[in-house]
Amino acid sequence: MVEPDQVVADQLCLSSSQQHYLYRVLRLGAGQQFVALDGQGQQWIATLTTKPDVAAIAPLSRPSSATQAPVTLVIALPKGSGFDDVVRQTTELGVSTLQPVISDRTLHQPNPKKLERWQRIAAEATEQSERLLLPQILPPMPWRDYLKQVSEGSRWICVARGDAPHLLTVAQASDLTRPAVIATGPEGGWTEAEVEGAIATGFQPVSLGPHILRAVTAPLAALTLVMAVHAQ
Ligand code: SAM
Repeated sequence: MVEPDQVVADQLCLSSSQQHYLYRVLRLGAGQQFVALDGQGQQWIATLTTKPDVAAIAPLSRPSSATQAPVTLVIALPKGSGFDDVVRQTTELGVSTLQPVISDRTLHQPNPKKLERWQRIAAEATEQSERLLLPQILPPMPWRDYLKQVSEGSRWICVARGDAPHLLTVAQASDLTRPAVIATGPEGGWTEAEVEGAIATGFQPVSLGPHILRAVTAPLAALTLVMAVHAQ
């Protein structure tokens, strides 16, 4: 990820960790090219020079997905390091904002140091997937507090059982210019009170199909469906 002070005219000054990644991990050499980005919407095609700490750059303009309505995923924190994978994969798929939440059946309290780690994972996935904008990763908060502050957009809560309509059908019938908020539950699922609280706040219960998906799989499935509808 390029910091503003690394760009001087048509040159990019490479940090030692960037040099390590480009020369040792990717095994690139002078004359070879890579895409550099700042995570704020700017991208360059960069060419390595004979000076190891300097790359020549030219602005790169590519169609942006930033014009799509933003999609926020509200995810009850899965156990262990499961959220690391969710951050990486949903960043690749194009999530705009990730809001981890602590629900009644969340199995552990998050370590405050995790936020920095998730932001680093999101930055790496942003670079790897060559998306233009970094997703926003918000600090974890209780689900009930989140419900008090959510205010806009189409809101869907994924419920694994019952006869809720499929998210695909619901998303296709929705106003795609509005931001979308999709909530998925923890390993033990949402409690009835949590789903009722969500409905009272304007969330519509939706299904992701007949199979019970893992807490780390459901956000990926939901995001993929909504992104596919946006792409049509
Ligand atoms: N034992 C839980 C239950 O019976 O409800 C299953 C929870 S599931 C492992 C974790 C979360 O993924 C659920 O709370 C829900 O948000 C989402 N999920 C999993 N499969 C789903 C499906 N088929 N439809 C909608 N949501 C699903």
